[in-house]
Amino acid sequence: MKKKILVTGGAGFIGSHLCVRLLNEGNEVACLDNYFTGQKRNVINLIDNPYFELIRHDITMPYFIEVDEIYNLACPASPIHYQYNPIKTIKTSVLGAINMLGLAKRIKAKVLQASTSEVYGDPEIHPQPESYWGHVNPIGTRACYDEGKRCAESLFVNYHKQNNVRIKIIRIFNTYGPKMHPSDGRVVSNFIVQALKEEDITIYGDGKQTRSFQYIDDLIEGMIRLMNTGEDFIGPVNVGNPDELTMLKLAQKVIELTGTKSKIVYQPLPADDPMQRNPDITLAKKVLNWEPKINLEEGLIKTIEYFKSIV
Ligand code: NAD
Ligand code: UDP
Repeated sequence: MKKKILVTGGAGFIGSHLCVRLLNEGNEVACLDNYFTGQKRNVINLIDNPYFELIRHDITMPYFIEVDEIYNLACPASPIHYQYNPIKTIKTSVLGAINMLGLAKRIKAKVLQASTSEVYGDPEIHPQPESYWGHVNPIGTRACYDEGKRCAESLFVNYHKQNNVRIKIIRIFNTYGPKMHPSDGRVVSNFIVQALKEEDITIYGDGKQTRSFQYIDDLIEGMIRLMNTGEDFIGPVNVGNPDELTMLKLAQKVIELTGTKSKIVYQPLPADDPMQRNPDITLAKKVLNWEPKINLEEGLIKTIEYFKSIV
């Protein structure tokens, strides 16, 4: 059945892929964005589609629209972007959540929150299950993002308990793919752009810190499956690829796949940079019948092709 769906942050990396998928499934999509880190270019191909609507709006201000479902993605996601104006980042997560939950309550829509593995902070439990409460520095440089997202989760759960709002919470782990912003400072885009320009590849710290990267298509599949789960399941649920590797290994992989002459250089590790991250996806496998399908090499090849077309 055709649904009317609001995607906040729809002109961003993940949001733009989600809009395409939802339209392809026959839905009507309203994409709301203030273009802080997103770009019209990400959704330009959708503008002529009569079932697609582009709305310039900031979710820290209330917004009214009649829809069946809301995917709340609006929030800068890369450390350099969310640290640019930390107070605004907190407002986007917290006021944005309040505004979208208030809207969902009024129009009786189902609302999904794009939460993050950052709620686990620099984790002491490895891999991270949803039951882990995290290890976050509340006054550190990443706190505006981590604590904003943690507060948003709390708001979602309480609107559900107090006002019966139908909610879903997804904890997204590092995701990469085409349409990432080339200068957002995230590691996959940085390494690929540096390799394609034959510039030095910048590893922060000794490169032994780990992350687990999932390809965008796998995430979108997990998100839609979560939205479609029964009323009794609200999450949070981890969606990520458990294939964990060090940043040094990632740099070597990018060098191998691009055939670049770039050299690796080492720069200081940013404050509070988590040393390890790996999702426990037992719950996603059980409830969503989901697991990632695209391995790192396959995903990197597609992402490198995209960056070749824009760099
Ligand atoms: P992105 O920066 O590409 O997209 C975020 C979008 O939100 C942008 O289009 C931006 O302009 C918009 N936005 C920011 N503040 C806004 C505001 N106040 N009002 C309206 N729009 C606003 O980032 P992304 O990687 O696509 O991330 C999307 C969501 O997924 C974010 O909520 C992020 O926290 C979450 N997430 C992403 C990752 C990842 O690896 N990419 C991991 C965990 C969680
Ligand atoms: N990183 C790096 N070089 C870069 C950019 C990032 O070594 O040019 C490191 C960063 O310090 C972190 C990891 O890569 O340890 C992932 O960084 P990213 O910003 O992509 O995501 P997050 O830290 O939010 O998981």
